[in-house]
Amino acid sequence: MSLEEKVAQVKANIAAAAREVGRDPSEITLVAATKVQTSDTIRQAIAAGITVCGENRVQEMTAHLDDNAYAGAALHFIGHLQTNKVRQVVGRVDLIESVGSEHLLDAIEAQAAKLDLVQDILLEVNIGGEASKSGIAPEELLSLAQKAVSCPHVHLRGLMAIPPVAEGPQGNRPFFARMHQLFVDIRQKMADNEVNIDCLSMGMSGDYQDAVREGATLVRVGTALFGPRPPMQHT
Ligand SMILES: *Cc1c(COP(=O)(O)O)cnc(C)c1O
Repeated sequence: MSLEEKVAQVKANIAAAAREVGRDPSEITLVAATKVQTSDTIRQAIAAGITVCGENRVQEMTAHLDDNAYAGAALHFIGHLQTNKVRQVVGRVDLIESVGSEHLLDAIEAQAAKLDLVQDILLEVNIGGEASKSGIAPEELLSLAQKAVSCPHVHLRGLMAIPPVAEGPQGNRPFFARMHQLFVDIRQKMADNEVNIDCLSMGMSGDYQDAVREGATLVRVGTALFGPRPPMQHT
């Protein structure tokens, strides 16, 4: 299947899952997870109908930005962000999806203030409670969200999660349901702050349809669009 066909197929699957639960497919945006892809492949994906690219490595992203590879699409940062790399990301991406600590939030606020801009962010929740994963515990979410909305150079747009590796089909549905509950809850609690919490980012190649059924507004898909990646290299 060509990349164009795969983009069309994933979009059709998203739309079908949305309709199953009575959602409007236009509420959901497909984010192409473009790690390890070349600038040319990224351009092809955008030509094939991808409107948002998600990057999780600062160095790759910087190289693609220098190539102008994302022209015509929005750009999200979806990976683990070290505070010493915040300067390379703030103001260069439309949304930082993976803000999982107060320390990182402070660093983003400081850099955005320096650049005199407002950076859109999501808070990453460690919904599986895994020691190996970044993200904040659900119990800490409200206080970090309150802090985020008090930061003048940060605009809190919602939540993101990477659940544990699924145990069989539908294995992650309970995590997605729990995330949706947190999303609804935080949206309600933040309603007085004139912030528009409208993004819930969850679901990857193996489970994006379930994520859509449980209320995702952003799904981050790599393998189902681009094929398998070489084994993960730690940077
Ligand atoms: C790579 C990546 C994805 C996409 O994973 P696939 O299983 O290839 O679809 C989604 N989210 C994040 C944060 C990623 O790093």
